[in-house]
Amino acid sequence: MHVGWLGAQMYSAFLVGHCERDSVSGEGGLELVDLTVSYPEAPRPAVDSLDLVIEPGELVCLLGPSGCGKTTILKAIAGLLELAGGDVRMDGRSLVEVPTEKRSIGMVFQKPLLFPHLTVGENVAFGLRMRRLDPGFIRGRVTEMLGLVQLEGMEDRRVTEISGGQSQRVALARALVVEPALWLLDEPLSQLDANLREEMRELIRSIQKQLGVTTIFVTHDQEEAVVLADRIGLVLEGRLRQIGPPARLFEAPATVEVARFFGGHNQIPGKVDAGRFHCELGTFVLPQPVPPGPGILVIREEAVELAAGENSFAARVQNTRYMGTHQQITMSARGVVLGMRVSSSRSLPVGKIVDMCFPSDRIWIIPGLDG
Ligand code: ADP
Ligand code: MG
Repeated sequence: MHVGWLGAQMYSAFLVGHCERDSVSGEGGLELVDLTVSYPEAPRPAVDSLDLVIEPGELVCLLGPSGCGKTTILKAIAGLLELAGGDVRMDGRSLVEVPTEKRSIGMVFQKPLLFPHLTVGENVAFGLRMRRLDPGFIRGRVTEMLGLVQLEGMEDRRVTEISGGQSQRVALARALVVEPALWLLDEPLSQLDANLREEMRELIRSIQKQLGVTTIFVTHDQEEAVVLADRIGLVLEGRLRQIGPPARLFEAPATVEVARFFGGHNQIPGKVDAGRFHCELGTFVLPQPVPPGPGILVIREEAVELAAGENSFAARVQNTRYMGTHQQITMSARGVVLGMRVSSSRSLPVGKIVDMCFPSDRIWIIPGLDG
């Protein structure tokens, strides 16, 4: 087949798990052990000593800014890049010596990468045809898969005549038709407009739960990750910084970098002593026992309140900005600049002195840093 238009690497990636009948499959538990990938002449590894265990049937979102190594991680799992170190294991078995096409992986990219000369049905059927399965069986499977992605009855349409969203649905079906043990999606919604993106998110989530296929969904979009993921793994500069249920990354960030990434911009250095946090702004009662020592108090902008009483202090309104759904307020107190959100209808003139409060159950302390 002529593949020049697709590029050799994308072609082999698409074929992941599509060619061989004796591919590695099983429960679909995936383990990355000390995974390290380096590009020639790069000053540091693109992926650095990454450990990650994904349970069978789980949907993990790898989230991080552009260039942090997300695509490199997927390519390493698929066997499209050689490892500088570490291991990729499926159900306990190392895949390092297993060629890409035997790894039982279905991949979806940013672009649908459909075969333009084939119909919708032929595109979906491709992986099964390569396995030389019975034509009747293939027809049945294609109908089933098109139903799954809500493209019923579109078998005979030309892929050049369908919309971008429909093309990406075909790509989802094509990756899943071979029943891969692992589904890898690399920013598959980033080229779609906002409304369609939300709809496709829901579709992917429901297909994933229906099939129970172990899935890694890569994105740079925080909201997308929060909505989709069982667990989010935050990747910064080639390293996995924290992994956990979405709420944990928002409310209980492991480091100041994780906090900053998830919008925990209010970070105040200080010291924990006898269940209280002492800092420039005063003394704050903590919600639960925190070991004594230096730390950084983190509180989200939307958690800060305008109220007197416990954990409150006087602050001056420095700047207000109307944001539609709320107002973004910059406050200053004892030389510390803080952000908070208030209702868009509330009047807060610049220069006004108000009582600001950190509700104790919204305070998070990142320990171990010098205050
Ligand atoms: P992401 O998918 O998160 O945007 P990538 O995995 O594509 O990130 O890239 C991670 C890092 O590796 C980046 O610094 C990028 O510039 C570098 N990189 C990616 N591909 C190559 C390549 N083929 N050769 C050299 N460096 C690369
Ligand atoms: Mg990428």
